[in-house]
Amino acid sequence: MKNPFKYSLDNKRYLTWNYYGKSNFQNKIIKIPLDGPFSCPNRDGLVGKGGCVFCFGGANAFPDLSDNDLMKQYYQRKEIFFKKWPNGIPYVYFQSFSNTYGPLEKLKEIYQPFIENEEIKGIVISTRSDCLDDEKIEYLNSLTFIKPIWIELGLQSIHDKTLQEMNRGHNYQNFLDTIEKLKNTNIKISVHLINGWPTESEEMMLQTAKEVGKLPIQAIKFHMLHISKNTVLGNKYQKKPFELLSKEQYVTIVAKQLSYLREDIIIERLTGDGLKDYLLAPMWTLKKVSVINDIDKKMVELNLYQGKYYSESR
Ligand code: SF4
Repeated sequence: MKNPFKYSLDNKRYLTWNYYGKSNFQNKIIKIPLDGPFSCPNRDGLVGKGGCVFCFGGANAFPDLSDNDLMKQYYQRKEIFFKKWPNGIPYVYFQSFSNTYGPLEKLKEIYQPFIENEEIKGIVISTRSDCLDDEKIEYLNSLTFIKPIWIELGLQSIHDKTLQEMNRGHNYQNFLDTIEKLKNTNIKISVHLINGWPTESEEMMLQTAKEVGKLPIQAIKFHMLHISKNTVLGNKYQKKPFELLSKEQYVTIVAKQLSYLREDIIIERLTGDGLKDYLLAPMWTLKKVSVINDIDKKMVELNLYQGKYYSESR
């Protein structure tokens, strides 16, 4: 069957990060994840204690390669990625915790070497909507004139009840206020969403996609909720397991969510990487390629493609 989605080089019926890299820069953009010296206001007590109930301490993909010298850390980690993609375009990705949490001077000191390093073509900064004041936004916007700056904002859901249950420490309005401030800058925005929160219905998850798909953002990451060891949620699950989405349910929900998004939003991720040794459930998330393939098949089966129902969600 012919692929009806126009921003695709293959069978994908959504705008992939690969498509974005290849059509704009002729190659794949490789994000080198870094573990910087940041914390999170939802863990250290400023906003909350204990963090989001699913959080196991920020995301650090390479705990063994966590040199305090961040440039050294970048080159150590880059070597691993560039064995696989020697012609990739390197972006540095400040991934762990909230990477705009702290005084502006600290941020400048950390980011400046990566701004000056000419081989690094872009900077991706993962953070929370309550960690971006006007001063920081102005500074980050000034950097966009040197190289692309992406802000990755964790939202997870538009439903305040869910955000409270997750212990996010901010509501949807706080996220919207930050989007409003960012929208008149050159900073690119990526939003992180979680599907499968136990008290959310399919309708609620679709509503999240419909609302976020209308915002002035450039990218979205979808994740299935991971229940990990040594987390508040993991402890609760170990005491009394609760029902989670099956792979088939997740695949169907994501396929439908994609159809409600604006067609020019880049889909950076369709499912997350759970750390095998820490994951309690759902175990099907470990087979990431199979989840992505099933989403592709489901979109064909339901005759869906990104943006198909966008006008109906406006
Ligand atoms: S905002 Fe991020 S780092 Fe902070 S507690 Fe939540 S998941 Fe963890």
